[in-house]
Amino acid sequence: MHGLANLALQGAGRFPIGGGLAASPAGTSAGSLGLNVLVLNRSFVAVHVTNVRRAITLLFRQLAEVVHIEEGRFAAHTLESWRELSDLRSAFRTADEDWVQGVGYELQAPRVIRLVSCDRGPRQGVRFNRRNVFARDGNQCQYCGKAFPMSELSLDHVVPRSRGGITSWENIVCACVACNVHKGGRTPHEARMQLVRQPVKPRRSPLLSIKLGNPKYESWRSFVDSAYWTVDLR
Ligand SMILES: [Zn+2]
Repeated sequence: MHGLANLALQGAGRFPIGGGLAASPAGTSAGSLGLNVLVLNRSFVAVHVTNVRRAITLLFRQLAEVVHIEEGRFAAHTLESWRELSDLRSAFRTADEDWVQGVGYELQAPRVIRLVSCDRGPRQGVRFNRRNVFARDGNQCQYCGKAFPMSELSLDHVVPRSRGGITSWENIVCACVACNVHKGGRTPHEARMQLVRQPVKPRRSPLLSIKLGNPKYESWRSFVDSAYWTVDLR
């Protein structure tokens, strides 16, 4: 039995992961459990992105270990040793770290984990989905050039479907409601609207590119080199 699993549950199962861990209600982000964690296979190749909640579950089940950079070198930790290290580090936390609250202890949110029995390679290609299209276009309407919250953007077929336009990276762009309505069933040329950028299929996950620009995920860079730009986000 893992020592941590004996701890009493906090938050009455609000975060149903082993050991009763919960995102800290004060001092740290309540959303720590939802933060991203890079998943490496046994050969240290980035294969996936998951969240802290799922990562901790994998640690509990001893299916994964935490990969942490200490003094420029990689160190692997079991949940137990990661907890001990977190205990040490908690007094010296920095703004780029996130913490998860357990009962009587805090765990630093891991950024990178390694599956100890997985030889799967990275998924190929960037997934064609709504989130990735919005990320590629930077939530910017590709006709008027203004940025909008995702809820106010729609996807527009550049060449309308009624004209044989297909649903592909090259024919789908973000558009605001006003531009979408104005364009109607016309091509941009007919509607005298110009695209901000010609849509293309991204070489790497647009969401991953955004993450890599965030100091929180600095440690991912070591694993996500140019060969693995295609790592998929959930
Ligand atoms: Zn617009």
